[in-house]
Amino acid sequence: MTRFFHLERGAGERQKGTYKARHKWGLPGVTCPHCHATWASTGFNYPALDLTNHPAAKKLAKAYLEKDFEEFELLREQLRPLLPPDSPLMPGALFGPLVGTARGPFAAFLQQYGDVVLVRPDALARLHAAGLRGLKGVSTELRFRPKDVEELLELAVEPRGLLHPDCIPRSTQPPCPKCGRHGFSLPKEPVLDAASLPLDLDLMRLRNFAMVLVVTQRFKDAVEQLELDGLSFRELPVR
Ligand SMILES: [Zn+2]
Repeated sequence: MTRFFHLERGAGERQKGTYKARHKWGLPGVTCPHCHATWASTGFNYPALDLTNHPAAKKLAKAYLEKDFEEFELLREQLRPLLPPDSPLMPGALFGPLVGTARGPFAAFLQQYGDVVLVRPDALARLHAAGLRGLKGVSTELRFRPKDVEELLELAVEPRGLLHPDCIPRSTQPPCPKCGRHGFSLPKEPVLDAASLPLDLDLMRLRNFAMVLVVTQRFKDAVEQLELDGLSFRELPVR
């Protein structure tokens, strides 16, 4: 049985370099007419989706709260065909490249926030050569400093795999049929749902807790053998 690890936001001393950025486009937050929650998700990032010539690009370029739920649904349905089937499209989902500034020099990985991992192209090439699966580097629109520093890529991480149902408190309402909200906190000791874990990927984000990035033992072994710095691993039990 493969072992799985949470990519925890790197400890301060592991981080080299810093950035200040946002994804270029995103779905707005909503107030749901069914469950009445006002909310936006975190972690459903689709950096490879380019909306440059999309009719809704201008509207999606600003972060806002959409008061008209039908308008939110219209926006969402326009985007759905552009993503792989079965991609969760929650309020607050983000699209396109990171825009902003970054300052190096960088470690092999920069995980400044839990749900986003940037990687140096040379490190990504070595991981591909080591046979890791599902690692897709996407160009950013960051302005990199100093001038001659290597430019980082963002890893596009597929939403696959689930937290085990036991991680969800019994008092939690089931997912809202209208907006999809499933409101619960990440437990201190998360457990993965064995049946949900993909066999064809070495990096994923959890579909029911998209902030959480998970890698396989193969990924951890390759990173350690290649002495690539910047990441912290914590094993997650599976059942
Ligand atoms: Zn709702």
